[in-house]
Amino acid sequence: MRFRGDSKKTKILFAAFFVLLTTGFYLHFPLSHPALWFSAALAACGYFLLQSVYSKNRKPLDKTGLFISLSTISGGLSLSYHWAAYLDIPLAVGTASFFGAQVFAPVWAAIFALGAKDIILHRPGALPLVMFSIASGAVSHFALKRYKGLATSLAEKVSRLDEENSEPGLSTGDLDVLGAAEKEFSRALLLARESLEADSVSVFRVDGEDVAVKGSTSAGIKLRNEGMIRLCLKKREPLCLTKMDQEELSPGYEHGEPVCSLMAVPLVLGHTILGVAACDSRRVGAFGLRHVSDFQRFAAFFAGMMARERVFSEMKRTLKGLEVFKKESSKILRQLAKEDIAREGALAARKIAPMATAVFLRSEEGYELPAAAGFSSSTQEERQKIKKNKENKKTFFKTLKGTLVANAFDGGQEPIYISDYRDYPVAALPFDCGFPVKSVFLQPLVGEEGTLGVLGMFSDRTNSLSAHQIELLKMFSNQLSVTFSRAILYEKLAILAETDALTGLFNRGYFEEALSKEFKRVVRHQRPLSLLLIDVDHFKKINDRFGHTAGDAVLKIVASIIKKAMRDTDVAARYGGEEFVAILAETDKTGAQNLAERLRKAIFLNPIDAGGNAVSVSVSIGVASFPRDTGSREELVELADKALYGAKSHGRNKVFLAKQEG
Ligand code: GH3
Ligand code: MG
Ligand code: MG
Repeated sequence: MRFRGDSKKTKILFAAFFVLLTTGFYLHFPLSHPALWFSAALAACGYFLLQSVYSKNRKPLDKTGLFISLSTISGGLSLSYHWAAYLDIPLAVGTASFFGAQVFAPVWAAIFALGAKDIILHRPGALPLVMFSIASGAVSHFALKRYKGLATSLAEKVSRLDEENSEPGLSTGDLDVLGAAEKEFSRALLLARESLEADSVSVFRVDGEDVAVKGSTSAGIKLRNEGMIRLCLKKREPLCLTKMDQEELSPGYEHGEPVCSLMAVPLVLGHTILGVAACDSRRVGAFGLRHVSDFQRFAAFFAGMMARERVFSEMKRTLKGLEVFKKESSKILRQLAKEDIAREGALAARKIAPMATAVFLRSEEGYELPAAAGFSSSTQEERQKIKKNKENKKTFFKTLKGTLVANAFDGGQEPIYISDYRDYPVAALPFDCGFPVKSVFLQPLVGEEGTLGVLGMFSDRTNSLSAHQIELLKMFSNQLSVTFSRAILYEKLAILAETDALTGLFNRGYFEEALSKEFKRVVRHQRPLSLLLIDVDHFKKINDRFGHTAGDAVLKIVASIIKKAMRDTDVAARYGGEEFVAILAETDKTGAQNLAERLRKAIFLNPIDAGGNAVSVSVSIGVASFPRDTGSREELVELADKALYGAKSHGRNKVFLAKQEG
């Protein structure tokens, strides 16, 4: 048999019972005959005694039953023996006080109303009785006050605990706070056990679909699959059982001691249930109303701590993520080449979320894939087969049409995250991933010039990313975009730095560098190399006659003719003013002479259109070769210059070879 002692219904029942008892005592109504009082008293006693004897635990009477029994007996006794009223009144008043103002007030009102009536009716015996009831009322009042004082001090203790813990005190290096919080939690469990005179206090935590022990004052606590804890979780209401029948209903956990009384309170934060706090005792009737309300206070504290712990661990994850972010960002920031940035970027993204990762970049003729990681080997092979850009051997796509990556290129700045991609009609990638794609994350990499590229992440699981990971990836991609923008700018600057603005040929600086590099190579491999020094004849006159702008146009056209005459491996540069230079790799003196002659003729035989005027332009060319003329780089340039001077002094529009006799 179970007995729940704290519902509102029980309270009202007790109030009614006491009022009836007291009224009956004063008015001798409705049971005016003592024998009937005794019968009522005996029936009440019998009920509580039998309940106690026949309950399976055979524990002593609970306090409430004892009070009511004694009160009824003394009430009945007082009908025959007037003195028994002195026993009955404090019992009735005391019990009523114990149950709070709602019960206490009607009992007192009844005593006073009826006592006053007795005095008015000149019953001298009533006066001491009324005086006594006032006295016993006062005693109960003070007793209650003291109890409430105790309860308040407990509440203060709890709220102080709360205050102690409400300081977040978080700094990046200070995550040991979680360890301290764990200790604080254990302290609170012990304090609850002590305050509630319980045997054990435990907190169970909801962990996804499951429930786990968060903390307990009992070592070796084990959670069971059913029982009060799970019931409390389901109902989300506090439960208080003061006479547990262990065979009928288990507490839902065990810690080696029998459990006869149990309180279970849900730990709720807003609409989220965090867990259940349980408090038990091997005594029957160990907990009453006061205990439940006290335990609820503790439960609120536990819930607060758990909520804070959640925030802390979330912060810890964020900080860890940020640490990865910082480390990886600094790695990509050190890179200048787009390919290196893409490769490091893909690796870093995979540290934030372990998914197959590809970085696409927009290029002049389409899209390139400078980095991909985490795809299966067959995919790698397939990617190898995909048309490659001849010059730099990058995986290259003319179009991404019909893939989700194309959508990311054309969409805005926001990432596309599809947590369940299974039934999606569009292909994720322009190549076969090697696994069934079940979720996709695509982050456009946007610079000032628009979308530069897309960071794509692909998983064979649905819901592969948490909100936290998405945030980190967004932040990281932002960094990646900035780094790519910078790399693109560097590339442009690098091209500018080695190019002559007017003619588009390499500039003198680049020529010097290229010559020294090439020279080292040809010396090592003993290969031929020739140098042409080309100077426009009487250029000053062209300027003077047609103007500077026309002169510029002439220079541009001469440059383009030179460029056209060169092979891929040759380097043509503007040496300065109206002088050009060409490094002819793998070309001996005869080859160089032939080329120079062809070039001279090409310029001389085609009048150049300079601002509407057809201008006949000629060039003089000096040729020097390695190893035929010299083994030194500096001398090679000098010899070419001398040959050019020879061409000039022999009437211009000529090709002169180094060491050629006039
Ligand atoms: P020569 O046949 O002896 O080489 O006679 P030249 O007039 O070509 O030789 P000179 O060195 O006396 O004159 C070169 C002229 O080229 C002088 C300069 O004003 C002009 N020049 C140099 N750079 C530029 C340029 O970028 N644009 C134009 N329009 N003229 C230039
Ligand atoms: Mg000249
Ligand atoms: Mg000149």
